[in-house]
Amino acid sequence: MADCLFCRIVAKEIPATIVAETDDALAFRDINPAAPVHVLVIPKTHHDSLAHAEDEQLLGHLMAFAAKVAIQEGIRDDGYRTVINTGRNGGQTVDHLHIHVLGGRRMTWPPG
Ligand code: AMP
Ligand code: ZN
Repeated sequence: MADCLFCRIVAKEIPATIVAETDDALAFRDINPAAPVHVLVIPKTHHDSLAHAEDEQLLGHLMAFAAKVAIQEGIRDDGYRTVINTGRNGGQTVDHLHIHVLGGRRMTWPPG
């Protein structure tokens, strides 16, 4: 999608700090980090949200890739949080499916 921010990052039209990449997914640092480690894992293809992504193989790949990113970022042993905000009530602000990988500090629960 030409006007999608994250599609433009995939197309390298907008700069991002990319930390890892596969054929189907990209991981880059969140521009406004909410934790010492805050990486976004996205599919290279456009899906508005989790509610619009029906490709189970892709979804599995994204989750496994997020876990690998956590290892690479050195947060696996202390633990981390993965978040997918979906739609208005989920607090989604960028309408391209993404998994937040957050770590480096103790998270609280329940979320706000
Ligand atoms: P969400 O609120 O779940 O839709 O998450 C969107 C995330 O994208 C937020 O954490 C933003 O800080 C992040 N974000 C927005 N624009 C950029 C950008 N150009 N590069 C990296 N992260 C971004
Ligand atoms: Zn997109």
